[in-house]
Amino acid sequence: MNKPNIIWLNVSVFLITFLFAAVAVPYRAITHGFDSAEIIMAVLCFIYCGMSITAGYHRLWSHKTYQAHWSLRLIYALGGAFALQNSILHWSSDHRVHHKHVDNNDIDPYSAKRGFWYSHIGWMLREYQAHRYTNYDNVRDLQKDPIVCWQHKYYLVLTIGMNFGIPLLFGWLHGDIISSLLLVGVLRLVLSHHTTFFINSLAHIWGKQTYTEKNTARDNGFLALLTFGEGYHNFHHIFENDYRNGIRWWQFDPTKWLIKSCYYLGLTSKLRVSPEDKIEKARLTMVFKKRQQQLVSHPNAEQLLARLQHEYDVLIVKLNDYYEIKKTLFANKRAKLMADVERSELMGQYKELKQRLIEQQRSWQFFIEKHA
Ligand SMILES: [Zn+2]
Ligand SMILES: [Zn+2]
Repeated sequence: MNKPNIIWLNVSVFLITFLFAAVAVPYRAITHGFDSAEIIMAVLCFIYCGMSITAGYHRLWSHKTYQAHWSLRLIYALGGAFALQNSILHWSSDHRVHHKHVDNNDIDPYSAKRGFWYSHIGWMLREYQAHRYTNYDNVRDLQKDPIVCWQHKYYLVLTIGMNFGIPLLFGWLHGDIISSLLLVGVLRLVLSHHTTFFINSLAHIWGKQTYTEKNTARDNGFLALLTFGEGYHNFHHIFENDYRNGIRWWQFDPTKWLIKSCYYLGLTSKLRVSPEDKIEKARLTMVFKKRQQQLVSHPNAEQLLARLQHEYDVLIVKLNDYYEIKKTLFANKRAKLMADVERSELMGQYKELKQRLIEQQRSWQFFIEKHA
């Protein structure tokens, strides 16, 4: 089979920037050194690029998990051009196809089933997607956003302006243009590229399948550190409309913190979260399935599997009861009936069902740990 043509522009950009980052930057560090202001500026620009992609390109535009004020969208649009990852329109179009046809080697633009290299960077080096370059049917909604259209139209000018303008301006103000071009320009760009690319490659290979095993996406706390929270990719692929990727308070997800902080400042609104009961059920079902597979080879398999099934069924029933009454309670709360609710039957029922769920969770945990 003939391979599609090589995209020389992409190959050159990736190769030249990588060589500069791997050779010229260490050489400059040894022979000349970088000062703290240059390092801080490079780190800040790295964060700006990364978060423009995660909070802007990904969670705002591709998945519409919240709404953002035009000033924030403009900041993201410039940061995305700085990150050199194509326009918002193109990136989001690719990403929506990735979610819809995940792991389908013929349609998913960066299918992880085609291997690490392909999903990381290989998919951008040849004309694999030539037929899609002008088709933006799946992002018609984004074409109504003037900032998206403006960035798409002037993408080349913006990306050159940001990638040369910021390092040149900083270098000129600080008094060392070459160091700034190398650190703030090239090293920042290469690190920003590859950490983002890890989400398509490593986050589909390395980590836990906490919520679903229907696709290759993985949850990986270490990758979350490098990707501003996007490492919780297994959760993201099943609950893609949620503005969070790391849903626990202790999970490192600075993109989620940024979106929530901007909400308090009035810059973001309509933050979408997935129903708690659905998340919990998906998680429990995965624990159930994994234990089932482990117990099959146990000498007492039949009895233990029956017990596991029973514990799981009871837990799901109690979970449903609990969340049902919780929803009713919150609906009443919203209707400002809380003063009565406090003394009401409903509150009593809620407390009782919560207690029953806790007891069943203990019983389930005891069984799971005993037969681990
Ligand atoms: Zn996504
Ligand atoms: Zn993915």
